[in-house]
Amino acid sequence: MSARLIPAPTELTQPYWDAAGRGELVMQFCPSCNQSTFPPRAHCPDCGSSELEWQAVSGRGTIYSYTIAHRPAHPVFADQCPMAIAVVELEEGPRLFSNIVGVELENVTVGMPVQVAFELIDDSDVVLPVFSPAQ
Ligand code: ZN
Repeated sequence: MSARLIPAPTELTQPYWDAAGRGELVMQFCPSCNQSTFPPRAHCPDCGSSELEWQAVSGRGTIYSYTIAHRPAHPVFADQCPMAIAVVELEEGPRLFSNIVGVELENVTVGMPVQVAFELIDDSDVVLPVFSPAQ
């Protein structure tokens, strides 16, 4: 894989990146209102609880929306274009931005079932969750 911009974990997001490094997708879960939430935050967006817990999620979801980027938004992405940038809606509810890999770009569709995969970013120890068509 080519060089990418390297995410800089914060105290709040470190558990997410640590889990990705283990090949696991995690989200914060609110025991008070029984919902998963993403992106990471200090309080539940629904009930305000600060008792959020990190939990592994299925990694399965569907493409909620996507675009094919033909021109790089940053020079580091130049050799990766065209690429599919998508909003994936997980089975557990949260949506996240990611890349769709392992499929011809013309076959990417809204509603396509996908599953998480993990890519090590070159020249780093950061693992990036990406999505590919579900098996
Ligand atoms: Zn809550």
